[in-house]
Amino acid sequence: MSTHALTTIGFDADDTLWQNEQYYRLTEEHFTQLLGDFADGSQISQRLLEAEKRNLSHYGFGIKGFTLSMIETAIEITEGKVPASVIAKILDTGRDLLSHPVETMPHVRETLESLAGNYLLVLITKGDLFDQERKLAQSGLGDFFDAVEIVSDKTAVTYRRIFSKLGDGPERAMMVGNSLKSDIVPAIAAGSYGVFVPHELTWVLEHVDEPKEAPRFRKIAHLGELGGLLDGLS
Ligand SMILES: [Mg+2]
Repeated sequence: MSTHALTTIGFDADDTLWQNEQYYRLTEEHFTQLLGDFADGSQISQRLLEAEKRNLSHYGFGIKGFTLSMIETAIEITEGKVPASVIAKILDTGRDLLSHPVETMPHVRETLESLAGNYLLVLITKGDLFDQERKLAQSGLGDFFDAVEIVSDKTAVTYRRIFSKLGDGPERAMMVGNSLKSDIVPAIAAGSYGVFVPHELTWVLEHVDEPKEAPRFRKIAHLGELGGLLDGLS
């Protein structure tokens, strides 16, 4: 193995290892139905997205912040008239989201199994600490990872720090995930490979253009293609 060979692979969790966004979409659908007397669905969704954007810097990513944004939107849409019974239902739907079943994506388990031991595997995710710990435990994938990093945001600084602390620096690391904005672009900016695994449902705030010109940008259809990609790099 050359001294420049990859030693460390970071994996995003939500919609890379297991389904996530689909549960948010269902919750949002339920939320718009709860407020159906006050506005139409697309209007409510638009206001909710604006609230989420406004609140990201206060609450960070995850279900608790999403729930607070739903409540804020309900107050706005109803001009302060939302009944307490509806607020209670919004809280219920947020809690339901915190206990949805964990459904791992295709090819995840066998891919991690084949890489574990050959690479240092690090799970790197945003979101609520409790929720991500619960999902990792329920997924049964925890043993494949050498480390788990639950971070408030994913920037080039985040990746440089994690890959330097745990691995052999960002140049000998790779980040794999479904978000161009959070997983791929900042990892490449840190000097790592960024392997984009698109998911059909990705939150609109995670969309940016593919960094097609970047020499360390790669794209695969599913995690089952990761082993072949790694073989081609070594
Ligand atoms: Mg993700």
